[in-house]
Amino acid sequence: MKTPFGDIQVADAHVHFFSHRFFQTLASQMTQPPPEADRYAFLGKIVPWEFPEPDPTRLAERWRMELFRQGVSKAALIASVPGDEESVSAAVRAAPDRFAGYFMLDPNQENVAERAAWALGELGLRGVCLFPAMHRFSLRDDRLPPVLEAVRAHRGVVFVHCGILKVAIREKLGLPCRFDVSLANSLDVCPLALDFPEVPFVIPHFGCGMFGELLLAAAHCPNLHVDTSSSNDWVKRLPVPLDLAGVFRRALDVLGPDRILFGTDSTFFPRGWRRDVFEEQVKVLQALNLPAPDAAKILGGNWERLFGG
Ligand SMILES: [Zn+2]
Repeated sequence: MKTPFGDIQVADAHVHFFSHRFFQTLASQMTQPPPEADRYAFLGKIVPWEFPEPDPTRLAERWRMELFRQGVSKAALIASVPGDEESVSAAVRAAPDRFAGYFMLDPNQENVAERAAWALGELGLRGVCLFPAMHRFSLRDDRLPPVLEAVRAHRGVVFVHCGILKVAIREKLGLPCRFDVSLANSLDVCPLALDFPEVPFVIPHFGCGMFGELLLAAAHCPNLHVDTSSSNDWVKRLPVPLDLAGVFRRALDVLGPDRILFGTDSTFFPRGWRRDVFEEQVKVLQALNLPAPDAAKILGGNWERLFGG
């Protein structure tokens, strides 16, 4: 894509793949689930979104075309409920030169290490997403190291959502959102990250509110990365106000340009890819006078190192 830093390969490290199974799963969790046959008609009254057909390759094609139209070379797609690994796997298989796949794993479920090995092996996915606040588990839980062994064996990536967690679609559907943020401190990622130094860890949205903790954790763990995704409006909740340029500046000081991955947190259609997030971040990088090679790493080069090949 043509950018103020030259013509560079832009890759998005954070795109949610809201599949048919994703919506079916959320609808089934409602206190009064709408009848299966007209769930989409029901959901359509709550959110004016496009709802995907059961075949995930159709949604994959929608995303492939959207990213192509926007000039985005690659994206990491996130299976956004536990149990939706196969949807993202189908998407990745449909366009392996464009997509890498992440899947959400809830360690409270059965046989999680086997499940991770299956998803990273047979299904060809590239990373595990952990949501300790949502699924209420500790990052020191004994069930995690075997999952990490599977990730290491497949040279995968671990994404850990830390800090403030808001899942707009869950709120809109009236699903429980009793997320325990005390379990989602970036510093608690350190023991795992230090025990598995070969595994890249990615904490989205610069830690989403616990920025000081994130910087401390990153200073201790050289394998810890951040993604820049979303509007990052958590900056408004800091005890000392900081703007996005300040966040990037501090992150660059501590993590350097090799451990920051650009992302948007794009989710649904018809909105599609969040160019607004991209443009805001490019402006910030320009204002910081970031050298072009460093910008190229953040906007795509680091993605390639973590997810490519
Ligand atoms: Zn997200």
